[in-house]
Amino acid sequence: MAIERKCPECGYWNNEEDYCVSCGAVLSPKIIVAQREEKLEWERLNAPKPFIDRFLEKWKHSRFLLIRISFHIFYTIWAIVMSIAFFFAYITIGVNG
Ligand SMILES: [Zn+2]
Repeated sequence: MAIERKCPECGYWNNEEDYCVSCGAVLSPKIIVAQREEKLEWERLNAPKPFIDRFLEKWKHSRFLLIRISFHIFYTIWAIVMSIAFFFAYITIGVNG
């Protein structure tokens, strides 16, 4: 028994065609899913960066040397703070566990 697909665009009954014989609309569920995923991927790639990312980029690539240096200082401090926090978390887990 052949699979029949009714075209959602024009109502024409097609056989196993991926595209409507009458109007060319996409009928194959596989192609519809692939197109949707492609669209989502495109939207994900073209989505605007979050504010914090743009802010950090601006800071990092500032025209002013002092601002660029301050970025690296803050970045280093942040890295140290994070490693200390991680270290304490590690000790706490070690004592309790
Ligand atoms: Zn059609």
